[in-house]
Amino acid sequence: MKEVKILQNIRIGQSTDIHKLEEGLRLTIGGEHIECSKGCVAHSDGDVLTHAITEAIIGALGLGDLGGFFSDSDPKNENRNSLEMLEEIRDVMVRHGYSIINIDSIVILEEPKLKKYSEKMRKNIAKSLRIDYNLVNIKATRGEEIGFIGRKEGIMAQAVVLLEKNV
Ligand SMILES: [Zn+2]
Repeated sequence: MKEVKILQNIRIGQSTDIHKLEEGLRLTIGGEHIECSKGCVAHSDGDVLTHAITEAIIGALGLGDLGGFFSDSDPKNENRNSLEMLEEIRDVMVRHGYSIINIDSIVILEEPKLKKYSEKMRKNIAKSLRIDYNLVNIKATRGEEIGFIGRKEGIMAQAVVLLEKNV
């Protein structure tokens, strides 16, 4: 019976975000500016990774999706720093009495390699959530020259988050 109680206090959330890439736009991933000739077409800053993590937290709380909180027709969200949205959702999570156990995520893009940015991206996400850097994992993979990612037409990020109820 004790195990059942623990499970009731743990909630999982998941999200996938996709953005179209176009020449000449700024590319921001995990709050870091990425050197790239292309950037995301978006109403906000188009930070695909931060969007996925933010929406995974919303999902874990059972509160719908990212668009329900941040409308892409609201001028307030135009070119908005996505880390600010993450911080807003962190406040919602705290009001609901939950804390993050851990986050795992992956960014899928053809180029460039994100290895040199990943530590800073982890730090940015952890800082916005006010959690230990070790609770945030960020992976990256390529599109292997196939599909919309392989053709460098778009970028995708996926995130999974586990929350626990504060006692
Ligand atoms: Zn997005």
